[in-house]
Amino acid sequence: MIESAQMKNDTPLRTFDVETIRREFPVLSRSVHGHPLAYLDNGASSQSPNPVIDAVDDYVRRHHSNIHRGVHTLSQEATALYEAARDRVMRFINARARSEIILLHGTTEAVNLVAQSYARPLLRAGDEILITHLEHHANIVPWQMVCAQTGAKLVVAPIDSRGEVSVAAIEALMGPRTRLLACAHVSNALGTVLPVAQLVQSAKSRGIATLIDGAQAVAHMQVDVRALGCDFYVFSGHKMYAPTGVGVLYGREEVLERMPPWQGGGDMILTVSFEGTTYNALPYKFEAGTPNIAGVVGLGAAIGFLESIDRPAAQAHEEALLAYAHATLGTIPGLRVIGTAREKAGLVSWVLDGVHPHDLGTILDQDGIAVRTGHHCAMPVMDFFSVPATTRASFAIYNTFAEIDRLGASLMRALHLFGRGAD
Ligand code: PMP
Repeated sequence: MIESAQMKNDTPLRTFDVETIRREFPVLSRSVHGHPLAYLDNGASSQSPNPVIDAVDDYVRRHHSNIHRGVHTLSQEATALYEAARDRVMRFINARARSEIILLHGTTEAVNLVAQSYARPLLRAGDEILITHLEHHANIVPWQMVCAQTGAKLVVAPIDSRGEVSVAAIEALMGPRTRLLACAHVSNALGTVLPVAQLVQSAKSRGIATLIDGAQAVAHMQVDVRALGCDFYVFSGHKMYAPTGVGVLYGREEVLERMPPWQGGGDMILTVSFEGTTYNALPYKFEAGTPNIAGVVGLGAAIGFLESIDRPAAQAHEEALLAYAHATLGTIPGLRVIGTAREKAGLVSWVLDGVHPHDLGTILDQDGIAVRTGHHCAMPVMDFFSVPATTRASFAIYNTFAEIDRLGASLMRALHLFGRGAD
């Protein structure tokens, strides 16, 4: 048995207490421009807690080696740590088997893999891929590419003025040529939670495959892929307290089995000769080349961390933060929230009359508050709301109500700086 930080972080923190949680995140104690950091950019990338930092550190210091190949001790240790992380991912999303967990670089790579390995061989000219208007570019562009390669058509389900997607509107677009529905679980630009369970059920009853982009969901809610029944579920580690450069493609085994490998190279083969190659079994068939081993170890530790806290309580805390943020933003003159879906998670986007989001982001940064400004890789959403960009505050389990008060005060300062504050 390998003694590692990753395997030691199983002790539950018992009750959810935000100050206890915050102490686990070293970066939260730093200051920015003389102010304590208020990190509200978790939708872009979240910070890592000590168990993740320690697990990666321990791996690099004591166990680093290439995986799956060596008979020597370090290689076996590295392989054990890597595969233990896969098992953790499997349990985390309630997959049926470890063969259903493909460890990749992130959501983007996972969607591209499904587009090229699942969709491309299947699609014929005139077939359709159905997405929604609120998708991240990572869940748009790979489908556009495969449509260009096959003559298939991209069909886009509308959103309404709240930023909601109705099941009926999507169902109306499911036709005899629809081969796949690919949609977000939670919108990164609007915070909308999509009715994915109903959508998957609807698609399944019509024989349509489903991919759910869970990049903005997994950190905020418990995901059960078997209960959802989707064919694919994809997410990134760095939005759920793990390092960058690691992510997951969950696929139902019978679907993955039928798919050809995407990238060729080491580790995804059983035998290679110049006459021909035989491919490795799942999940390795889709994991060509040396992966981000340290990142995967960190992902396993992030899951261990999430399992160690009271997740329903953490989710309730985040929901309370989101409600408080909406209430706070509601007091700011000239502020319009973009995305007012009845079910939201994790984030709030807005525009402020007379202050460009980039200027606003700079002013907030001067006050030590990190938010994201821009199109959030969802340009069609910006077009729909006729705004060039928004400012977005996105939350994690370590954020506090006091940080939202500071956000409100800083927004008022921005209004005064731009001569728009109430006297
Ligand atoms: N989908 C959504 C909803 C996202 O928020 C993001 C990241 N902003 C992605 C996909 C892409 O994730 P990554 O860059 O980690 O591949």
